[in-house]
Amino acid sequence: MHTLKPQVYILLFLILQSCKEAPKLENKPTKNSEKTEIPENIENIVPDTISKHTLTDIPEPTKSLPAKPAKANSKSWSELTSNEGFILDLKYASTDNFTKKQIYDCARCYMRPEAAEQLRLIRDELKEKYGYGIRIFDCYRPGPYQQRLWDIVPDPNYVTPPNKGSMHSRGLAIDLTLTDKSGRDLDMGTPFDFFGKEAHHGYAAHTDAVKRHRWILRSTMEKYGFGSIRTEWWHYSFKNKSYALDQWVWPCE
Ligand SMILES: [Zn+2]
Repeated sequence: MHTLKPQVYILLFLILQSCKEAPKLENKPTKNSEKTEIPENIENIVPDTISKHTLTDIPEPTKSLPAKPAKANSKSWSELTSNEGFILDLKYASTDNFTKKQIYDCARCYMRPEAAEQLRLIRDELKEKYGYGIRIFDCYRPGPYQQRLWDIVPDPNYVTPPNKGSMHSRGLAIDLTLTDKSGRDLDMGTPFDFFGKEAHHGYAAHTDAVKRHRWILRSTMEKYGFGSIRTEWWHYSFKNKSYALDQWVWPCE
């Protein structure tokens, strides 16, 4: 891993100081609870705080990974693909994410088999009952990629430290939204990775349509064993099985 220059730390410090009232991104406790404690003054924050800052002076992510990409062990991992009707839009495999850097070398969605199996049932139910589809923003996040994120934003208020890990690095969390049958996003009130109170499940001022869309996603996910967190309408993690943090990185060829 490369070392950041002192000026970069100073820049990050200044950016993060000015963002310090924003809610936590991935600072989630392990095991049973993913609840994140948010300060009371959270209701006063400016919604798109982070996107207002430029991160252009931050170094490019490290190119070499400590874990060598290897073929998936099908007993450990199940891949969700567009051939199965999922829309894959993995934000960290592009620069269209809050760091403005590409974190993943390529876009693939792996989950633990028990979670993937339930997601296929969820896909079927959403389609049959509502005519809706699923757009996926993030799935399993390998340890080395979590390290890349941390190298860019080394602040636990925004990124889970690699040694602590998130449910994504256990292969049990997924970030997703609903689409209509043409693949157009339904209105969920905010975009993915929006750091503000409007992204909270409990935000009361959204339209009835937004509330209904969120309720459909949440109630269906919960029916199949996924739990939500209070501050991110797009994030769900599978509760019926636990796994350790994993370092495996998928191949890109
Ligand atoms: Zn997530």
